[in-house]
Amino acid sequence: MFDKVLIANRGEIAARIISVLKARGIGTVAVYSDADADAPHVALADEAVRIGPAPVRDSYLNQDAIFDAAHSTKADAIHPGYGLLSENAGFSRRCAESGPVFIGPGPGVIDAMGDKARARATAQAAGVPVVPGSDGPVDDAEAAAIAERMGYPLLVKAAGGGGGIGMQLVKKASKLERALASCRDRGASSFGNAAVYIEKFIESPRHIEVQVLFDQHGNGVHLFERECTLQRRHQKVVEEAPSPFVQAHPHIREQICGAAMAAASAIGYVNAGTVEFVMGPDGDFYFIEMNTRLQVEHPVTEAITGVDLINWQVDIAAGAKLTLDQSALAIDGHAIECRIYAEDPDKRFLPRPGTLGRFEAPTGEGIRVDAGYGSGQEVTPYYDPMLAKLIAHGPDRGTATARAQGALERFVIEGVTTNRDFVRAVLAEPAFAAGQFDTGWLETYAKGRG
Ligand code: ADP
Ligand code: ADP
Ligand code: MG
Repeated sequence: MFDKVLIANRGEIAARIISVLKARGIGTVAVYSDADADAPHVALADEAVRIGPAPVRDSYLNQDAIFDAAHSTKADAIHPGYGLLSENAGFSRRCAESGPVFIGPGPGVIDAMGDKARARATAQAAGVPVVPGSDGPVDDAEAAAIAERMGYPLLVKAAGGGGGIGMQLVKKASKLERALASCRDRGASSFGNAAVYIEKFIESPRHIEVQVLFDQHGNGVHLFERECTLQRRHQKVVEEAPSPFVQAHPHIREQICGAAMAAASAIGYVNAGTVEFVMGPDGDFYFIEMNTRLQVEHPVTEAITGVDLINWQVDIAAGAKLTLDQSALAIDGHAIECRIYAEDPDKRFLPRPGTLGRFEAPTGEGIRVDAGYGSGQEVTPYYDPMLAKLIAHGPDRGTATARAQGALERFVIEGVTTNRDFVRAVLAEPAFAAGQFDTGWLETYAKGRG
C-alpha cells in the first residue's frame, strides 16, 4: 500500500479524498494555488505545497509543478479527483512512465474514452446502443450530409468536451455551419481539441449513468445506476440513486448495467468509471460517453451500496483484487445529492463569487455533506462555483427527499448568493415527487419562477 498520496485537486473532492486516506493512515499532500492558501483541503492534509497563481493552467493544470511537489514530498501516488487532470491521458502516461502511481486508469484507457467521437465507435463495436450520429469527427460537408439524412434537431459536440461545455443544439440547416464553427473554437480553446461530431438530439430524455469498478486483474462489477436528469447548462444539479424511472422498470436496470459493463470491458477498463446514457420516455437508452474518473455524484452510489469508491480506487491502483461480488451487491434505500453552487438561479444560474460569512453544514440522520469551503473563505471566479454537496439517504425516496429538505433548511450559508433555496423548491415540486422530469425540466422551472 502507498505511504503517501498527493491530491492534485481542490475543493470538496480534495477534502474528501484526504479524509479517506487519513482514516487509513496514509500520508497526504495537498497542493494549492494562491487563491486557495486558506482552503479547507490545505488545512486538512499532512503537508501542503504551493503550485502557482490562481488560474488553473498555472496551478492545478500545471503538470510540472505537480510532479515537482510529488517528488519533493516523496509521494508514491497521485489522486487526480474529478475535472482538472483526471482525464488527461498525458498526465496518466507520465505517471506510468516515471511515477508516482496514477490513481485512475492508464493512458490507453483514457485515450480510448477521452475522445468522445472515438468512444462512440468503441461502444458501438461492443454492441452498446449509441445515439444515431456521425461515425467519428466530421468536416462541414460530412456534417451537412449526415444532418440531411438524419434530420433536425441535432447536437454538435466537441470530441474533447466535458462539464457541459462544447455542445450546441441545432434546430435547422441554416444554423449548422455556425454551430460547427463555434463548437470547434470552443473545443480548441477549452480542451485543445477542435474535432467535432454529430448526434441526433433525443427529445425530452433522462440522463441515466452506471457506476463501474474494475481491478487490474480483470475483475469488475457495476454499482447500479444513478439518475442525473435535473441539469442546467447540461450540467447536473440534483442526482439520485437508484433512478426512480429504472426502479419502476427493473428489466431496464439489467439491460443498462449490462451495456455499461460491456462498454467498459471492451476497452479493458481499470479503476472507477461511469458510463453515461440518455434515455427516451420508453426506456430506450443510448450511450453518450464514459467518464474515466470519479464522478461528482459518486456519494449517492456509496450511500445505497455501502461501498466506499475512493477506498477502492486506492486499493485498485495499489494492485489489490476486487473482492466485491456482483450477486452480493444490493440497493439499500434511496439517496439524493444536491449540489450547492454560488450562483443565481434567477439570473440564468450565473456564478456569484464573493466572501462567505458563516458557512455551517447541517448534520442529521442519513445526512452527509462534502464541503470544499469554510466560514469566511472567499469564493473566487477562478474555479467551478460548487461550494458543497448535500447527500441525504433514507429507506425510501420520500424519506430521502424529506431529509434533504430539512438539511437544506438548516444549512447556514451567509455572504454569497446560492442555489440552496432554489433546490429546496425543486424538491417540493409535485413533478419531482412523482419522478416525472426530463433534462429540460429544471431550466424551464427556473424560467417559470423568475
Ligand atoms: P460529473 O460529470 O462528475 O457529473 P461535471 O459534469 O459537473 O460532473 O464535471 C465534473 C467537474 O469537472 C466539475 O467541477 C466541472 O466543472 C469540471 N469539469 C469537467 N470537465 C471540465 C473541463 N474540461 N474543464 C474544466 N472543468 C471541467
Ligand atoms: P459532457 O461531456 O459535457 O458531460 P455529455 O455528452 O455527457 O457531455 O452530455 C451532457 C448532457 O447533455 C447530458 O447529460 C444530456 O442531458 C445532454 N445530452 C447529451 N447528448 C444528448 C443527446 N444526444 N440528446 C439529448 N440530450 C443530450
Ligand atoms: Mg457527461
